Amino acid sequence: PAEPTPCEKYLQLYQSGHLQVRRSDSSHWELKCTICPKWIKTSVPSRRPLSIPNHFSVLEGHIRSRTCTAYPARASTAPPIPSPRKASPFMAKYGRSSSLPLEASSAQSAPVPMVIVQTCPGSPVDWPVQVGSFTETFPFHRIGAQPGSLSFDVEMHNRGTKIVGFSKQCTGEAQLNSCCPQCTKIPAEVQKLADLALQADSRINHRYLS
Ligand SMILES: [Zn+2]
Ligand SMILES: [Zn+2]
Repeated sequence: PAEPTPCEKYLQLYQSGHLQVRRSDSSHWELKCTICPKWIKTSVPSRRPLSIPNHFSVLEGHIRSRTCTAYPARASTAPPIPSPRKASPFMAKYGRSSSLPLEASSAQSAPVPMVIVQTCPGSPVDWPVQVGSFTETFPFHRIGAQPGSLSFDVEMHNRGTKIVGFSKQCTGEAQLNSCCPQCTKIPAEVQKLADLALQADSRINHRYLS
């Protein structure tokens, strides 16, 4: 036997006395919603008996619609159709974001990665200009505090074989194997200077620059 349709159920409820009905002023049947307190007007004349499932289709439409105050909770009468559509993107979104704290909590037994703060070691200067030595081609005349000067100072280490740049705004602190946020900007500036030096080299001899 097939499941009774909602309208058949409402007819059964009515016939068993569990669905209130009344005659409206316009001589039509009104059905009391089984979920919310509203009275639903039908087009069935009250001189005719409520006798077929189709007489309750207006009530079924009401309960399926937002006009029924029980709209969000009507999952008990029928599978809620909009909810899965609403829920799946939310669940997908929530699932992704919630996976991070889950991973973090499951990794609690593992050692927490320590953020080791050390003195900023500066940024090694990689000087790609090969037409002369670093001291010959690097624009040392722009090191200093004068207007137009570079944003960093340079230090030579290991007898001049290692050149390290320090930003004038160096915070002095950095994480392990890294330098501070200001010193990280140095390589980009060095690259620009190297480009300029290579351009200049095609025209002039750096040995006579100063
Ligand atoms: Zn209702
Ligand atoms: Zn620094």
